[in-house]
Parts: sequence; C-alpha cells; structure tokens
Amino acid sequence: KRPVPSDIEAARSQTPKDISRLALEIGLLPEEIEPYGRTKGKVTLDAYQRLKDHTNGKYVVVVGITPTPLGEGKSTTAIGLAQAFGAHLRKPVVACVRQPSQGPTFGIKGGAAGGGYSQVIPMEEFNLHLTGDIHAITAANNLLAAAIDARILHESTQSDDALFRRLVPPKKDKRDFSAIQLRRLKKLGIEKTNPNELTKEEVHQYVRLDIDPQTISWNRVLDTNDQFLREITIGLSVAKEKPQVPPRQTQFDITVSSEIMAVLALATSLADMREKFGRMVIGNSKAGVPITADDLGVTGALTVLMKDAIRPNIMQTLEGTPVFVHAGPFANIAHGNSSIVADLIALKLVGPDGFVVTEAGFGSDIGMEKFCNIKCRYSGLVADAAVMVATVRALKMHGGGPAVTAGTPLASEYTQENIELLQKGFCNLGKHIENAGKFGLPVIVAINRFHTDTDQEIELIRTLALEHGAFDAVACTHWADGGKGAVDLANAVARATESPSKFKFLYDLQMPLADKMRTIAQQVYGATDVSFTDEAKEQLQRLTATGFGQLPVCMAKTHLSFSHDANVKGVAKDFVLPIRQVWVSAGAGFVGAMVGTISKMPGLPTRPAFFDIDLDPETMLVQGLF
Ligand code: ADP
Repeated sequence: KRPVPSDIEAARSQTPKDISRLALEIGLLPEEIEPYGRTKGKVTLDAYQRLKDHTNGKYVVVVGITPTPLGEGKSTTAIGLAQAFGAHLRKPVVACVRQPSQGPTFGIKGGAAGGGYSQVIPMEEFNLHLTGDIHAITAANNLLAAAIDARILHESTQSDDALFRRLVPPKKDKRDFSAIQLRRLKKLGIEKTNPNELTKEEVHQYVRLDIDPQTISWNRVLDTNDQFLREITIGLSVAKEKPQVPPRQTQFDITVSSEIMAVLALATSLADMREKFGRMVIGNSKAGVPITADDLGVTGALTVLMKDAIRPNIMQTLEGTPVFVHAGPFANIAHGNSSIVADLIALKLVGPDGFVVTEAGFGSDIGMEKFCNIKCRYSGLVADAAVMVATVRALKMHGGGPAVTAGTPLASEYTQENIELLQKGFCNLGKHIENAGKFGLPVIVAINRFHTDTDQEIELIRTLALEHGAFDAVACTHWADGGKGAVDLANAVARATESPSKFKFLYDLQMPLADKMRTIAQQVYGATDVSFTDEAKEQLQRLTATGFGQLPVCMAKTHLSFSHDANVKGVAKDFVLPIRQVWVSAGAGFVGAMVGTISKMPGLPTRPAFFDIDLDPETMLVQGLF
C-alpha cells in the first residue's frame, strides 16, 4: 500500500477548483460569493435571507475524547466524514470548522486543517491569515482597549465643561449628539436631545464614565503565543507627564480568547453582532455600574472593523466538498465553536437530505458542553447526533500508558497490541459517550485508525462503546484513504439521524449562576462539588445583582482532563472543582468561570513549530506546516 505523505504534501496532491465554481455547485448565487483570490472566498449573509424558509439539513457535531499528546484526529475526522458524504455518498454536505489561531500554528500544535487525505485545502491559506478575520478581531479588540485608557486619561485631566465641549463640539453654531451618544443619554435616563439644555449635573453625569481602573476586565490581545505579555504595566510615559494617571497593570490575551471573537461566533446577523458589541462590559464605574462599549462610543467603529469578518469563509476539502471556516474561539479558555452564521447558512444550503458537520473543540466536557448549552441556545438550532473521535493509542494513554517525550520514539505500548491498557483507558471514552447522552444526542464513535492498530483492539473499543450506550462505533481510515475510508462512518451517522432529535440543554437559564456551574461540574466533569474563592463569590453576587444571573455559563478549564488537574487521565474521581474567578461577557452572552489556573495567553515551547517553517524562494511554497 502506498505510504501517506506529509500533511502538506497530501494537501498539494490535489489542485483546488475555483472557489466561485464550488459556490455555484452548492447552490449559492454568483452575487452571494466574494472570492478572495481563487481558492477562498466569503459568503454574504444575504444567502441566509434568501434561503431562510427552506428546511434544514441534519446537524452533526464532531467531538473528541480527552486530548493526549498522541492526538485523536478530530479535525481530520470531521473533514473525512464530510468527504465521505459529499464525494462518495453524493449527499449535500458542508463541513463547518474554526479558523486556527496563529499561536498554536507557530507554537506547539501546528495547523488544524485535518491531515493525510482528509484536509481543507490550500492548507497554508487555511492555517495562516485566511481572509484576515483574526486580524480584524485584534484591531477591534485593541481599539476598545485604547478607548478605555484614553478615556481615563481625559477624564482625569479635564473639567466637566472641557470634556463636554470636546465630546459634543459645536458645528456651525449647532451642537448635536450622535446616535451613539443618544444611546448613552437614554441609558442615564436623560430624555433631552439638545446638548444646550443639559443641566450642570446632567453634563457631569454624561461626561464622566468614572471607570474604576481596578475593575477593568478588557485586555489587549495579540494572535501570538507570548508568555511575556501575561502581565504588563502600561502608561509609563503618560504617568511621567500626568502623575494623576498612574501606570496600570494589565495583560495581553491571545486574540482567539477575545470577547470580539465570541461575539463573532455567537451573532446571528450583522445587526445582532452590533447589539452584542454595544453590550460588552469592560469594567465598572467607581459607583459599581457596568461600563459598556456603547458608553465609550465605540460600537459603530467595532462593527465597521468587523463588517467583512462576519461573512463565513468558504474553502474546500481535498475531495472538492465545501468547508465553511469561520471564527475560532479556543475551547478551553473560550466557548470553542465555529460561528452560528456559518452553520445557519450551511444547514439551509444542504437542505433536508443533507448534512452539516460542525466541529466543537476538544472533548465532550469542553467544546461539546458549550456547543449545546451556549451555541445551540443562541442559534435555536437542534443537534441531531454527535460523532466522537477516539484512537487506540490515546485511550491507551488514558489507561496509564507511558508519557510521550518529544524527540524519542513512541513506546511499544502504543505501537503493538496491548488489550489490557486499552481496556483500562476505555473509561475516558465511556464517560464522553455518557455525557453526550445527557444532551439527548445519539453517539457514533469514530475509531480513527492508525496503521499499528490491531483488529482485536478496534473490536474491543467497538464492543465497549456499544455496551456504554453508543448508537454505533465504526473504524475509519480517512486519514490514509480519504473520504472512502469514512463511508461506513457516514452511513452510521445517516442512520442515527433518521429519528427526530431528542436534543436538550443541561440546565435552565433561571438557575442561579453557581448552580449552573455546579451542574456542569457534577454532570459533565464528574466532580463531587464546586468551591468558590471569596473573590469568585463576590463576583457572582455582583453579577447576579447587576442583572447577569440569567446568562448561560462558559467554563474556562483545562482540556487535558475531566478535572481541573491536567495530569489526571482516564476519568477523574473524588474532586471538588475550584472556581477562582468569575466574569461576564455581556456582549457574547455568558458568564465565564475560571477553573484552577489556566492562562489566556499561551507561551512558546523550547522548539516551536516555527523552527520548521520556511518559504521556498523558487516556488514561493510554504514548507514545514503540519
Ligand atoms: P485534532 O483535531 O484532534 O487536534 P488533527 O485532526 O488536527 O487532530 O490531527 C492531528 C495530526 O494527526 C495531523 O497531523 C494528522 O495528519 C495526524 N493524524 C490524524 N489521524 C491520523 C491517522 N489515522 N494516522 C496517522 N496520523 C494521523
């Protein structure tokens, strides 16, 4: 049998078709696709307006088991499954995936286009800048960050009158509030629209956001892994000239954890995105009132920066089937799912006989929980089935297999049959199957086959998965064989989605925030209880008092274990989940909970992926991406 070449070589084995042609093939109108070059483009939201009364296709979410350094091939499987449906079973299909962050691409993980003969192509376009959405998010996020500190500076150095003169300048004897300023007046309960009629007290109220620097939760972002930006001091030069504005401790986060990214992923339309931007809370006033992007007058500008980013990107698989690549929040520190608008359009495009394969980050405890409780809640969409990707080797690691050290060959436990280790490690997959059941989803286990796996090992996973309530468990070879290797998987998915969906949420929004967190911890992670730091308790109280108690919750937890301790493999038992901090992403629409210690800014390892990345000056081809 021919050996499978490297991911980048496999990706280049096929010449992608013109993206406009693909768009027409899947039923988009010429005016609904905006090509960016020949191999990628953006789909306008008008496509949804045109198709909104059509019947949706089946909605299938792909998740993994708890990740190990050995990898499960979740993206590879999502793409392989789409290839099987589209290119082999001839069913309408769209795969919806996240855009990878530059952090992991140059850091530790490499790209995320899938692998072998199941990939999104051109993989270098996919893994690098694509159409610039992440850069737009960085720009929008940092405009808001700059607005906050500039406002503090100006309020600290100017009188009410001077501020008012500058914020509402007279234009040719006339003075008007802009639309965004009128929104703020309304929020303050000031009915007047003529700036000249405001009393001194109303002017004072209007010009002073009076932001409490201690409460600012809006950080600057960059799409680069850089551990040196985790804690920074800003404003040193301003403080030299204006001692009343002291330097401030803050931090950079990675762009994909920005609330702007979460809003992009959770918005259902351009108007909805704008509303959500306006509601984003950046901190509190000294009197404890939440300060929003609207208060800072920046909502319109954020919308302008993001007007193209809201359109899903279209690319293709190695077998020429469509892929929507849109939004890329990390799944551990953010909500970890591609955009709602991409799924909405895709479900209409494929129609009642088709399938949308959407990928949620990491395991059922991370991306899938948030897919169900956050993403589906906001989209109103109902998932039909979960495909759960597992590998023999990763399960062996959950069973206590030896650690993997970079630069040394893989231990024989992983390359030779070892039934005992596999049997022990199955518990991890078992718990993920059980979790999907709690959302009413039938589970199809996709056993992503490596060439060293034995038939006995595959059969063992299959038997145990069925015993644990999986709808089916299917071995697949899409990495080596392309879509053909996932036809059995696709047939199993089609069978599982024949009966009406029994999808349900895990908790009601009326539940107090702490109870929602407890429910996830106990039901999905298997914790005995949750504990809150004093800081978290106080934040929960404040958020509930300021009207955010009815939001869903987004847990920021390590993806490497069911518990908060990344070292605990298999199934974690007898642990209390520590919640350190709680915050609101009022625009995106969730209350976040920081579990244990997890950073929003990854670092670079000793030997980052960028060591191997280069450009061939002759061919201008990118080398070394994987
Ligand atoms: P995940 O989405 O779980 O992070 P990916 O799908 O990105 O994983 O795959 C990670 C890497 O593993 C890719 O480089 C891919 O080529 C490789 N890989 C995936 N499945 C297989 C397989 N069955 N055999 C060999 N390598 C594989």
